[in-house]
Parts: sequence; structure tokens; C-alpha cells
Amino acid sequence: LYHGDGHGWIEVITGVMFSGKSEELIRRVRRALIAKRRVQVFKSALDDRYAGVRTISSHAGSDVEAVPVRSSREVAEKVVPGTQVVAIDEVQFLDDGIVEVISALADRGVRVIVAGIDMDFRAEAFGPMPMVLTVAETVDKLHAICVLCGNPATRNQRLVNGEPAPYEGPTIQVGGHEAYEARCRGCHDVPR
Ligand code: ADP
Ligand code: ZN
Repeated sequence: LYHGDGHGWIEVITGVMFSGKSEELIRRVRRALIAKRRVQVFKSALDDRYAGVRTISSHAGSDVEAVPVRSSREVAEKVVPGTQVVAIDEVQFLDDGIVEVISALADRGVRVIVAGIDMDFRAEAFGPMPMVLTVAETVDKLHAICVLCGNPATRNQRLVNGEPAPYEGPTIQVGGHEAYEARCRGCHDVPR
């Protein structure tokens, strides 16, 4: 944990799908609640893996809902005065404006925790992530386990009908009939 005193900061949790980014984000939020901090949690509305809102509860008795957002502006509008910790999951789906929004929050003393996938299925930078990583005080890059060989996985393998998806496909395929696997560099396949 970063120990800057008297100002805010930005913590990024990044890595491939299934690497435990959400688990780590929730863990940090729970601990902030135990510390009785005032916390707001957001997640990109594009991520429909979970129906409705997820509630993060703590043994300290406070609950916090992950509020779905569609844009960086929505985050800026929904943060209320007095909030000490802002957490955002699936930040790779948000627009580039998120960099300014989280920077402004940190400047005014807020601890910002964001989780996001660093690379798309082509192993290229995902949305605003390069700039988010750049402005952060701390970055933790998590690994999953490669489903083919068991090595640490860093890459998202997109499969369409069980076959590696070609390079030309869209970065985000909402409601597509595709699947994703965590794979290592050696097992990752993007046919051109
Ligand atoms: P992320 O937010 O990075 O997508 P989650 O926190 O949602 O990750 O999920 C992490 C969990 O996914 C792990 O604790 C594990 O139970 C499960 N999991 C499923 N497939 C894998 C895999 N290939 N490697 C590691 N964990 C996996
Ligand atoms: Zn592998």
C-alpha cells in the first residue's frame, strides 16, 4: 500500500481476465470500509457478466454497491463530496476522459483504486489503460493461469466457435458468441 500522507493517489490493479483483479479490488474496498472510510464503487456498465449491481459487504457492517457507469463523466458526476475512496472496476471499457477524472479526484485528496485489463485480445493496449497506468502512483499486474500449459497467463485469448479469433475482429463484441481464455505469451494465438 502506498503511504502518501495528506493527499490522494491512484492505485491500479491490472492484468489478464481471470487474474483476480476484481477479487483484489473488493479486498481493498472491504479494508477501506473496515477503516470506516467513505467509499464509492463503480463498474463499467458494459460488463454484463453480473446481473444487476454487486454489493460489497464488510464484517464492519457497511455495504457498498458497485454502481454501473457508461462514461467517465458519469463517474465525475456521481462522486459525492466527502467520499474518501473511489473504486472503479473494468476501467478499460471507459473513455479516455477517465484519466482526467481520476487525476482530479486524487488531486483533491481521494484515494482512487481502479481495476482494468491492460491488453485486448490482440495483445494491444486496451482503451485508456496506457494513460491510466502512467498517471498511477502504484501498479499491480496480476497473472492468471494459462489454460493450455499451466504457466502464468498474461493474455486474453478470444475464441469464436472454439477457434482463435482473427486480428481484424472488433475490440469489444457486446453480446457476441465468443469466449475468452487466459493464456501465456507462447500459447496466445491471433491469426492474421
Ligand atoms: P478478473 O477480475 O481479473 O477477471 P476475477 O477476480 O473476476 O478476475 O476472478 C479471479 C478468479 O477466477 C480466480 O480466483 C479463480 O477462481 C478464477 N479462475 C478461472 N479461470 C482461471 C484461470 N485460468 N487462472 C486463474 N484463475 C482463474
Ligand atoms: Zn501457455
